[in-house]
Amino acid sequence: MLRIGLGYDIHKLEKNRDLILGGVKIPFELGLLGHSDADVLIHAIIDSILGSVALGDIGSYFPDTDNNYKNIDSSILLKKTVTMLKNKGYRIINIDSNIICQKPKLAPYIDKIRENLACFIEIPKENISVKAKTNEKQDSIGLGAAIAAQAVVLVESI
Ligand code: ZN
Repeated sequence: MLRIGLGYDIHKLEKNRDLILGGVKIPFELGLLGHSDADVLIHAIIDSILGSVALGDIGSYFPDTDNNYKNIDSSILLKKTVTMLKNKGYRIINIDSNIICQKPKLAPYIDKIRENLACFIEIPKENISVKAKTNEKQDSIGLGAAIAAQAVVLVESI
Protein backbone atom coordinates (compact mmCIF):
# COMPACT_ATOMS: atom_id res chain seq x y z
CA MET A 1 0.00 0.00 0.00
CA LEU A 2 1.15 3.54 -0.82
CA ARG A 3 0.58 6.56 1.40
CA ILE A 4 1.72 10.18 1.23
CA GLY A 5 2.62 12.68 3.93
CA LEU A 6 2.93 16.46 4.05
CA GLY A 7 5.13 18.57 6.31
CA TYR A 8 5.68 22.28 6.93
CA ASP A 9 7.85 24.28 9.31
CA ILE A 10 9.09 27.83 9.85
CA HIS A 11 11.79 29.26 12.13
CA LYS A 12 12.83 32.81 12.89
CA LEU A 13 16.32 34.05 11.90
CA GLU A 14 18.39 35.51 14.74
CA LYS A 15 21.94 36.61 15.50
CA ASN A 16 24.33 34.28 17.37
CA ARG A 17 22.78 31.12 15.95
CA ASP A 18 24.15 28.66 13.35
CA LEU A 19 22.22 28.26 10.12
CA ILE A 20 21.75 24.51 9.62
CA LEU A 21 19.65 23.16 6.77
CA GLY A 22 19.45 19.44 6.02
CA GLY A 23 22.33 18.92 8.43
CA VAL A 24 24.61 21.30 6.50
CA LYS A 25 26.06 24.30 8.34
CA ILE A 26 25.70 27.26 5.98
CA PRO A 27 27.90 30.33 6.47
CA PHE A 28 25.60 33.31 7.17
CA GLU A 29 25.43 36.15 9.71
CA LEU A 30 22.10 34.83 11.10
CA GLY A 31 20.84 31.40 12.11
CA LEU A 32 17.52 29.79 12.92
CA LEU A 33 16.12 30.12 16.43
CA GLY A 34 14.65 27.07 18.13
CA HIS A 35 14.88 24.63 21.01
CA SER A 36 16.80 22.12 18.86
CA ASP A 37 19.31 23.11 16.17
CA ALA A 38 16.19 24.51 14.37
CA ASP A 39 16.87 22.64 11.12
CA VAL A 40 13.64 23.73 9.46
CA LEU A 41 14.04 21.39 6.45
CA ILE A 42 14.55 18.28 8.58
CA HIS A 43 11.60 19.27 10.78
CA ALA A 44 9.31 19.55 7.74
CA ILE A 45 10.55 16.15 6.50
CA ILE A 46 9.95 14.58 9.93
CA ASP A 47 6.38 15.90 9.94
CA SER A 48 5.80 14.56 6.42
CA ILE A 49 7.02 11.08 7.46
CA LEU A 50 4.87 11.09 10.63
CA GLY A 51 1.91 12.36 8.60
CA SER A 52 2.24 9.62 5.98
CA VAL A 53 1.28 6.98 8.55
CA ALA A 54 -0.88 9.29 10.70
CA LEU A 55 1.51 9.17 13.68
CA GLY A 56 0.85 12.76 14.74
CA ASP A 57 3.43 15.55 14.62
CA ILE A 58 7.00 16.30 15.64
CA GLY A 59 5.93 18.14 18.81
CA SER A 60 4.25 15.04 20.26
CA TYR A 61 7.48 12.98 20.06
CA PHE A 62 10.21 15.59 20.53
CA PRO A 63 8.59 18.36 22.63
CA ASP A 64 10.43 21.68 22.95
CA THR A 65 9.79 21.53 26.70
CA ASP A 66 12.05 18.44 27.00
CA ASN A 67 15.63 19.36 27.86
CA ASN A 68 16.88 16.15 26.18
CA TYR A 69 16.16 17.92 22.88
CA LYS A 70 17.85 21.23 23.70
CA ASN A 71 20.15 22.15 20.78
CA ILE A 72 19.89 18.54 19.56
CA ASP A 73 21.13 17.69 16.08
CA SER A 74 17.86 17.26 14.14
CA SER A 75 19.38 14.43 12.08
CA ILE A 76 19.10 12.30 15.25
CA LEU A 77 15.37 13.06 15.39
CA LEU A 78 15.05 12.23 11.68
CA LYS A 79 16.74 8.85 12.14
CA LYS A 80 14.41 8.08 15.08
CA THR A 81 11.42 9.01 12.91
CA VAL A 82 12.57 6.71 10.08
CA THR A 83 12.82 3.88 12.65
CA MET A 84 9.26 4.65 13.82
CA LEU A 85 8.10 4.43 10.20
CA LYS A 86 9.84 1.05 9.77
CA ASN A 87 8.21 -0.20 12.97
CA LYS A 88 4.86 0.75 11.42
CA GLY A 89 5.77 -1.49 8.46
CA TYR A 90 6.54 1.23 5.88
CA ARG A 91 9.55 2.50 3.96
CA ILE A 92 10.22 5.76 2.13
CA ILE A 93 10.09 5.78 -1.68
CA ASN A 94 10.89 9.45 -2.30
CA ILE A 95 10.81 12.92 -0.79
CA ASP A 96 10.28 16.29 -2.45
CA SER A 97 10.86 19.52 -0.55
CA ASN A 98 11.09 23.30 -0.75
CA ILE A 99 13.21 25.64 1.34
CA ILE A 100 11.76 29.15 1.20
CA CYS A 101 14.53 31.57 2.03
CA GLN A 102 15.33 35.08 0.82
CA LYS A 103 18.99 34.97 1.88
CA PRO A 104 21.56 33.42 1.70
CA LYS A 105 21.65 31.77 -1.74
CA LEU A 106 21.29 28.04 -1.15
CA ALA A 107 22.17 26.67 -4.61
CA PRO A 108 25.79 25.83 -3.65
CA TYR A 109 24.59 23.66 -0.73
CA ILE A 110 21.67 21.74 -2.24
CA ASP A 111 23.73 18.78 -3.38
CA LYS A 112 25.37 18.35 0.02
CA ILE A 113 21.97 18.65 1.73
CA ARG A 114 20.57 15.87 -0.50
CA GLU A 115 23.62 13.69 0.23
CA ASN A 116 23.16 14.21 3.98
CA LEU A 117 19.45 13.42 3.88
CA ALA A 118 20.10 10.28 1.80
CA CYS A 119 22.56 9.14 4.46
CA PHE A 120 20.21 9.88 7.40
CA ILE A 121 17.17 8.26 5.72
CA GLU A 122 19.10 5.48 3.96
CA ILE A 123 17.55 5.90 0.52
CA PRO A 124 19.36 6.90 -2.72
CA LYS A 125 20.06 10.60 -3.20
CA GLU A 126 18.19 10.37 -6.54
CA ASN A 127 15.00 9.85 -4.49
CA ILE A 128 15.44 13.06 -2.51
CA SER A 129 14.60 16.40 -4.07
CA VAL A 130 15.41 19.71 -2.38
CA LYS A 131 14.43 22.94 -4.11
CA ALA A 132 15.25 26.43 -2.92
CA LYS A 133 13.18 29.50 -3.65
CA THR A 134 12.88 33.05 -2.39
CA ASN A 135 9.63 34.65 -1.28
CA GLU A 136 10.02 37.49 -3.80
CA LYS A 137 10.82 39.85 -0.88
CA GLN A 138 7.27 39.43 0.47
CA ASP A 139 6.19 38.77 4.04
CA SER A 140 8.51 37.78 6.91
CA ILE A 141 10.41 35.24 4.83
CA GLY A 142 10.91 37.68 1.99
CA LEU A 143 12.11 40.33 4.45
CA GLY A 144 14.74 37.89 5.71
CA ALA A 145 13.21 37.39 9.17
CA ALA A 146 12.47 33.67 8.83
CA ILE A 147 13.03 30.55 6.73
CA ALA A 148 10.28 28.01 6.00
CA ALA A 149 10.30 24.52 4.50
CA GLN A 150 7.74 22.19 2.97
CA ALA A 151 8.07 18.47 2.33
CA VAL A 152 6.05 15.64 0.83
CA VAL A 153 6.93 12.00 1.17
CA LEU A 154 5.67 8.83 -0.52
CA VAL A 155 5.88 5.64 1.53
CA GLU A 156 4.96 2.02 0.83
CA SER A 157 4.24 -0.92 3.07
CA ILE A 158 7.18 -3.31 3.38
ZN1 ZN B 1 11.09 23.29 13.61
